[in-house]
Formats: sequence, structure tokens, C-alpha cells
Amino acid sequence: MGGGAAVFAGATKAADLKIENVVMINSGLPIGGTCVNVGCVPSKVLLEMGAQIYYPHVGRFKSLQPAAQLSASTLDIQKVMAEKDEIVESLRQSNYRDVIAAFKNVEFLEGTARFASPTAVEVSGEKTKMIEADKFIIATGSRAKIPPLKGIESVGYLTNIEALSLKKVPKRFLVIGGGPLGLEFAQMFRHLGSEVVVVELEKRVLPLEEPEVSKEIQRALEDEGIKFMVSSKLLEFSVNAKGKHGVVENKGEKVDAGFDQVLIATGIQPNTDKLNLDGTGVKTDHRGFIETDCHLRTANPGIYAAGDCTGKMALETVAAKEGAVAAENAMTGTEKSINYDQIPHAVFTTPQVASVGITEAELMKRLNVCACRTVPIGSVPKGRALKEKYGIVKLVINPHNAEIVGASTVSPVAAEMIQEATLAMRSKITIYDLIDTVHVFPTFSEGLKIAAQAFTRDIKTMSCCIG
Ligand SMILES: Cc1cc2nc3c(=O)[nH]c(=O)nc-3n(C[C@H](O)[C@H](O)[C@H](O)COP(=O)(O)OP(=O)(O)OC[C@H]3O[C@@H](n4cnc5c(N)ncnc54)[C@H](O)[C@@H]3O)c2cc1C
Repeated sequence: MGGGAAVFAGATKAADLKIENVVMINSGLPIGGTCVNVGCVPSKVLLEMGAQIYYPHVGRFKSLQPAAQLSASTLDIQKVMAEKDEIVESLRQSNYRDVIAAFKNVEFLEGTARFASPTAVEVSGEKTKMIEADKFIIATGSRAKIPPLKGIESVGYLTNIEALSLKKVPKRFLVIGGGPLGLEFAQMFRHLGSEVVVVELEKRVLPLEEPEVSKEIQRALEDEGIKFMVSSKLLEFSVNAKGKHGVVENKGEKVDAGFDQVLIATGIQPNTDKLNLDGTGVKTDHRGFIETDCHLRTANPGIYAAGDCTGKMALETVAAKEGAVAAENAMTGTEKSINYDQIPHAVFTTPQVASVGITEAELMKRLNVCACRTVPIGSVPKGRALKEKYGIVKLVINPHNAEIVGASTVSPVAAEMIQEATLAMRSKITIYDLIDTVHVFPTFSEGLKIAAQAFTRDIKTMSCCIG
């Protein structure tokens, strides 16, 4: 059930295992689900377009004349959205429709799935159909969670879906939520020409990241003119003759935040409400996310769950991994599981943020002891040569054996750099192995080696490429 990353990975695994009868049932979003239609792909296209508009006019080298800023009036947002749609359509075709056509054993049904019994699903689409099966995978994804804020319906709020298809760049763009999604959209619209304010309930943006990361990315985004209200709560929305407003409680005071469009980026809720899970034995938590064991099996041994609807880590990569593992466990009886501590993730702002593994605080909780080093991007020769103003690399190691257990970076290519740390963690390599590994000079990836060296020497007095 579903039509996104988790289901496609599950169907691919089923095809590899030569399972004869596989049925995929999708409704709501088009084939491909969140990532290709209203998530990773369109957001990254628009972020890149925004960056191409914004950065040419930011002078980095004093000897170069920055390009004139593209004014909001010369930006044709309709053309921008149309080109984004073209890219989405081309990926939807090649990565989903063509894949379905190539599967010999998979039937794709358009319709909403709902359990009729623990072993049968009713599909309501153009025609109602009953599907009986030995095993099921629920992979119905998630959607934006809309908090019950007073006046919210009156202001016509946006979720990721509407924000990725706006016909006009809002003059004032308010973002509720300073998590990965909130920050990506904040910078996207800042670069497209909006005045942007981000309201975050926690003490810092990206509250699940290392505190140094939150501080650095906020500093970078503030320097581009994005305003932040942290430790702040949106109390209510209203509309009057002057426009749309949000009342924000900030440091004990009520602040008026006027806006033309507001994006709600306060988290996700699972698409499990239409599945009629009562009577199937499948258990959900108080938010509706499906509970599974570490093999992705629900409380009913014939029903597995994968992807966003399990509430573990809402990432395309995790959905795909879980879909494949769930299909294999369901169909062959294996008991594979996933090590969530080794899953990297990124925020595609400029600079990017990426991390893998556990934070310093988490290691302290687990071991009651920790060893960490954080180096600024200015310690990395490439960062200095390119006059990079923002960035850090932080490594968390297990002090008992010097193995890397966590890495976080803010850098122009953080999402690429984090792969090295991920492989290092998977291979259980120590900081000494990392130091001993020759890195290409000059690269931002050297930052990981330099952070490792910071455990053993004073990196302030160190020549380039010292091992
Ligand atoms: C704006 C945005 C940006 C993102 N960027 C990234 C990124 O850069 N990197 C990354 O790794 N992740 C990113 N994500 C997260 C990623 O998109 C999701 O984690 C992933 O797509 C979830 O896949 P899934 O298969 O679990 O669910 P989905 O892809 O949502 O698929 C579920 C499908 O099931 C359908 N469905 C729901 N109920 C039923 C039903 N009863 N019957 C039939 N069908 C049903 C849904 O309509 C949908 O088509 C982003 C998400 C958003 C919103």
C-alpha cells in the first residue's frame, strides 16, 4: 500500500526474489509519492534556482565585480515553476512509470487501500476491488501536520505541496518551524525575493543537530536577511484590513508578525487514518505512526510497515531501505534490521548541513563520557582559499577505542562530505585511520581529516596535508 520510495523498493526486492504476484496500490499523490512529486526533487530544483539567482550578486572576492541583483520584477516565477514541473515529470516517468512497466510481476492499482479483514484489502478507485494476500507492506507515507492554531484556516496556510507551486513570490513569507524543511523553504523564498521570518519553538533551529551546527546555519541565514524568532510560539493567526498576521510569543512578549504567505513546517503526521487498522492487530502510537519491531513487522506477523508511516526517520533513503528490508523479511522469513545510527541526512541550504550518527549529548547519555572536536571551515585550506565564511566540522568519537560515532558538518558540500564519515562509521575506523588516509588537496572533505587531527595535535600550527 503506497506508491513512494518504500513501496518501490519493496516491489523491486520482491521482483529480485521472483515473488509471483505483487500488487501496488496508490492514491492521493501521483505515482512516486512524496519525494519526486512534492518533496526532495522539486525542493532541490527550486533551491538551486534560487541560489543561481542570489549568489552571483554576492561579492566574495574583492577584485571581482558582483553581478547586478536579479530584481523580483524580472523573475518569472511561473516559468520557474513550469521548468521545475518538467524536471519532476521527467523523473516521475523514468524512475517510477518506466520501472513499473519493466516489472513483470507487479500490478499497479490506482485507488485507496483499506483493510477489509486482516488478510484482505479493499481498493476503492474507479472500480472497487478486493485484494487478498499472504503478506502486506503498509507504506502510505505522511503529510504535513497542521497544529490546531486559532485562526489558521482564515489565513490560507501553505504546506510543502502548495509552497512548491506558488504562482507569485510572496513579499513577506512567514515560516512556522525551524527544522530542515522550514530552513530549506526559508532560504528558497529569500533567494527568490521574499522577506522571510522563521518562528521556532525550541531554543535553536535544527534542534536535533549539534548546537554548533544550529548556531552556524542560523548565522549564515541571518546574514542573508532571514529573521529568526527562536524559543517563540505562534499563538494565533488573524486577518484585518492591513493583511494577514500571526501573534508570536517571543521572550514573554507578544510580537505581531505580518505576512503574505505562511508555511507550516512543524512536522509530519502519518497517512494511516484511512487504512481501517482496527481489527487487523496492527498497533499505532498516539500520533498514528505504525509500531513495528526492528524487522519492520507490525503486531500482526503478516503485515509489515515501511517509510514515513512508521515515524522512525522521515527520509527518502530510509523509506527505500525499510521497504526492501520489510519485503525480504516478509517473503523469505529473514530477520534483517537497519542500523539507524549509520544513516546520514542533509539539509540543502547554502551552506549545507549534514550529519550522521549520534551527537555529543547522546554519547554522554549512552557512555557518560565523550570526546569531541569541532573545527571551523577556516581551518580547512580550501575554505580559506575560497573565503568561505560559514562552516564547521565536528567529530564525536568513542574515547575507549577512538572510533567515530558521529559527524556533523556545515559546508558548501556537506551532503557529499558526510558520505566519508558514514563509510568510516560503518567500517568502524578510528580517527587514526582517518588521519592516515590521504585526502585530495584542496577539498572541503579534508575538514574531516583535520577534525580527526584536532584530537591529537594543535591544528592551528600545522602545514597543509600533514598526516
Ligand atoms: C519538502 C520535502 C523535502 C524533502 N527532502 C528530502 C531530501 O532532500 N532527502 C530525503 O532523504 N528525504 C526528503 N524528504 C522526505 C522524503 O520525501 C520522504 O521521507 C519519503 O518520500 C517517504 O517515502 P514513503 O514511501 O514512506 O511515502 P510517500 O512517498 O509519501 O508515499 C506514500 C504514498 O501512499 C499514498 N497513500 C496514502 N494513503 C493511501 C492509501 N490508504 N491507499 C493508497 N495509497 C495511499 C500517498 O498518497 C503516497 O503517494 C522530503 C520531504 C519533503 C516533504
